Amino acid sequence: MKKVTLGSTGITAVQNGFGALPIQRDSTEVAVQLLRKAYEGGFRYFDTARDYTDSEEKIGAAFAADDGTRIGNLFRDHREEIFIATKTHAATPDVFWKELNISLSNMKCGYIDVYQFHQMNQCWKPGDGTGMYECMLEAKEKGLIRHIGATTHKIGVAEEIAASGLYETLQYPFSYLASDRDKALVKSCAEHNVGYIAMKGLAGGLINHSDAAMAFMTQYDNVMPIWGIQRESELDEWLSYMDHTPEMTEEIAAYIEKEQTELSGNFCRGCGYCMPCTVGITINQCNRMSLMLRRAPSASWLTPHWQEEMNRIEDCINCRVCTTRCPYELDIPKLLRENLEDYRNVLTGKVSVQ
Ligand code: SF4
Ligand code: SF4
Repeated sequence: MKKVTLGSTGITAVQNGFGALPIQRDSTEVAVQLLRKAYEGGFRYFDTARDYTDSEEKIGAAFAADDGTRIGNLFRDHREEIFIATKTHAATPDVFWKELNISLSNMKCGYIDVYQFHQMNQCWKPGDGTGMYECMLEAKEKGLIRHIGATTHKIGVAEEIAASGLYETLQYPFSYLASDRDKALVKSCAEHNVGYIAMKGLAGGLINHSDAAMAFMTQYDNVMPIWGIQRESELDEWLSYMDHTPEMTEEIAAYIEKEQTELSGNFCRGCGYCMPCTVGITINQCNRMSLMLRRAPSASWLTPHWQEEMNRIEDCINCRVCTTRCPYELDIPKLLRENLEDYRNVLTGKVSVQ
């Protein structure tokens, strides 16, 4: 597994990052085991967020405690080898300082390597009147954070951040389903010496061949993928690539090309940013049902539970609140109706899937 350096941060770590959102759903005991096993297996870059409920606390429990095993207290003995990134949703300086202190206290890490504004809707700059960028500078001067990062789901904002010269890292979705504009963003980050943190490397569950996902990432020297990990089997899959990193062979390239053809255009990534729906539709699953029916065993999606969920699409009142929140600017009510029609065709046998 090669190492990548994240732009001007100088952070150099194996190109296999740990996305700590899913460990929210684990018990503390399981999360601690996963995180420590990840470190032992070579993971060095860990990404979480203040918004991920107790994910930060689990990182603290894993790395700032000595559980009597041979790797001991990692933050005490190996702090410089571990890179911790977290995020704040703060929109005012008061909330910024409050959240930063909570994150430091939760993780007991002394300082945060990469502190990111979470899901930015605008590129905060010095002197813009919000005081937010100044907070980052002050936190850096005080040694509470080492690098200033940004995350967003809006391509225009991401492009501005990349070119601004103000942010040392940018986190944005990136996978082999990325558009040309997304790829240009990665290039722009490289040109501006901004480290690129790739979220949703499996496109929200649509990509089900991790070797192809990994082979794609290895083509980019400034990109750190952070794979969401909840189970030991998932961790083991990514760990297996530490020693045997998939390469972009002709076979994988052909597979990716086929996938790109099949999944091109407007499709729901399942991120859930559009939720909650005014009438309770589970948009992030129902809106990609046609894809899921064809990319996973369909039986699990044809249960009475999912039939009921899909039927709820008929309740859509077209208020379009969801569309204002979708970073991919999808016409959600229209896509939902298309998915419902296809679902019913599959259910009644008019259309067959595997
Ligand atoms: S437009 Fe339909 S799917 Fe979207 S929030 Fe309104 S009711 Fe829900
Ligand atoms: S409709 Fe848009 S915001 Fe909602 S889950 Fe799909 S991609 Fe995400």
